[in-house]
Amino acid sequence: MQTSTYQQLKLQCSHHNATLIAVSKTKPAASITELYDIGHRDFGENYVQEMVEKQNLLPNDIQWHFLGHLQRNKVKQIAPFVHLIHSVDSLPLLEEIQKQANKNNRTINVLLQLNVTTEETKFGMDENELLYLLEVVSSRSSQFQNIQICGIMGIASNTDNKQLIRKNFQQIFTAFQHTKNVYFIGKSYYNICSMGMSSDYQIALEEGSTMLRIGSLLFGSREYAQK
Ligand SMILES: *Cc1c(COP(=O)(O)O)cnc(C)c1O
Repeated sequence: MQTSTYQQLKLQCSHHNATLIAVSKTKPAASITELYDIGHRDFGENYVQEMVEKQNLLPNDIQWHFLGHLQRNKVKQIAPFVHLIHSVDSLPLLEEIQKQANKNNRTINVLLQLNVTTEETKFGMDENELLYLLEVVSSRSSQFQNIQICGIMGIASNTDNKQLIRKNFQQIFTAFQHTKNVYFIGKSYYNICSMGMSSDYQIALEEGSTMLRIGSLLFGSREYAQK
């Protein structure tokens, strides 16, 4: 882990009023401790089992961000401690999070994942699905008392085409503002537009990101062989 890279990222985030999430998936707990010891508290993981294991090992004041595709039957494992789920992509998933949050007697913060790419491998809702979900939630708000929807998460296309990446981020940010103006007027907690990763975070900041999710730039490239 390069401390100077971390300090650079923190500086850029503070210029843009954005929060930095250190994405530690596939990396050992020791890598997290290294950043923790210089004051970092927000860490992102993609796999339920891995996040639970690390949460058991590491200090309690870490704020755990779940970024990956979340299966309904695994929500209960992270519900006791997760700080923010970035990847809500369906009503049934939201209903399960509500159920588990209620069981744990807490409120769980979530983001709705918007898919603006044409890549079939990416999870998330398209804009119509996202607006439909918000319609349902706002018409049945008493059934979602243990959930706080805090904004939107999006991933840009996996491409070298900077213009396309910028266009993707503009679309995510526009959806964030639109949904804020329609469904969350006066709700100060609806303030997260989570976009930008190691390869595209500068563009994301320029386009209004309030939360970066940075993995390989901080921790080095990942090994997937073990998964
Ligand atoms: C892995 C991952 C990241 C971090 O990716 P890097 O390119 O390593 O910065 C960010 N967001 C999500 C949803 C991820 O799965």
